[in-house]
Amino acid sequence: MHIKINNSVDAFAEEIQNCSGINVYNCYQCGKCSAGCTVSSFIEESPTRLIRLIQLGQKEAVYKSKTPYVCATCVTCTSRCPMEIDVAKLMETIRISAKKEGIEPPVKEVPAFAKAFLAPIKWGGKSFELGMMIGYKLKTITPFTDVELSPVMLKNNKLPFFPGKVKNTERIKNIFERAGYFEPREKKKHEH
Ligand code: SF4
Ligand code: SF4
Repeated sequence: MHIKINNSVDAFAEEIQNCSGINVYNCYQCGKCSAGCTVSSFIEESPTRLIRLIQLGQKEAVYKSKTPYVCATCVTCTSRCPMEIDVAKLMETIRISAKKEGIEPPVKEVPAFAKAFLAPIKWGGKSFELGMMIGYKLKTITPFTDVELSPVMLKNNKLPFFPGKVKNTERIKNIFERAGYFEPREKKKHEH
């Protein structure tokens, strides 16, 4: 990857620090976080490299990286860091900051899965696998992926046909509201 040295080196790192409380300049690139990363075979930029890009003010390269989206939030990196840098939180911060700036995630399946998974929870407070699968497949246009698993799931009663609902759905709505998780249309409705 070609790196252009940016004069506003501190600005991006500061932005990240304001959002997460993490000072990326504490990282001395030992590589321990990356050595333990559980998704290392699926990513191009290791956590160490991503931190270096932040140190160098390479905002565009950071937001283009798939690493924060493929990250499984297993926190192995965080637990291994000798400088007590919460690398997993840093990954989350990158995702949040990119979303705030209106940047499309480079891995489109991740937001599609999150939306499909959260939709029934927002509605009734419970996950609904069948609805999630349908929602995800429609969003990603992958109707036949993993269909071979359906008979096994049906046989084991893992795919109920109707969603469940908790008694107090208002509490669920409040949780989503506090987390700021509303689609623009819903947000408008909710503010009225
Ligand atoms: S939290 Fe993410 S970046 Fe850290 S080790 Fe786990 S998968 Fe890798
Ligand atoms: S383990 Fe900590 S100090 Fe070492 S590269 Fe990762 S973040 Fe930097």
